[in-house]
Amino acid sequence: MMESIACNLCGQSDHRVVYQKPDTKYFPKERFSAVECLNCGLGYVNPRPAFSEMSRYYPVDFYEYFDTDPAAQMKRYRVEASYLKEFARSAEGRKRLLDIGCANGDFPRHMIREGWEVEGVEVSRNSKAIDDFPVYRAPLSRPSDRSALL
Ligand SMILES: [Zn+2]
Repeated sequence: MMESIACNLCGQSDHRVVYQKPDTKYFPKERFSAVECLNCGLGYVNPRPAFSEMSRYYPVDFYEYFDTDPAAQMKRYRVEASYLKEFARSAEGRKRLLDIGCANGDFPRHMIREGWEVEGVEVSRNSKAIDDFPVYRAPLSRPSDRSALL
């Protein structure tokens, strides 16, 4: 089941559809809408799969996919890291990343090698275990649940 949501950043509901696209690998007949919040500009999927449906949308083989073409994944990580460097500002000179939906942790590990401090959020039990950096295994709406930190 899909649910319509307000902006995760500012709470406003006004948005515009930027593009619609199917998930060609798993759900070629379903179209997902990427929207832009008209108040703050955040981009997000809306409507989105309900939390109770996440394991259907992110099956076990989704997490195995990352290992099928490491060179392609590394190329993507380098592009994403380059993009993030533009936003890395800190008074202490620290570069910190919270990867929401960090899957198996491959991208945060890449960022550790780039000198970043990282933490992740991953709620899927289909993802691989991560024990080399802090990962919250609870929805982000409950970040104070420290017991979820592995
Ligand atoms: Zn917003």
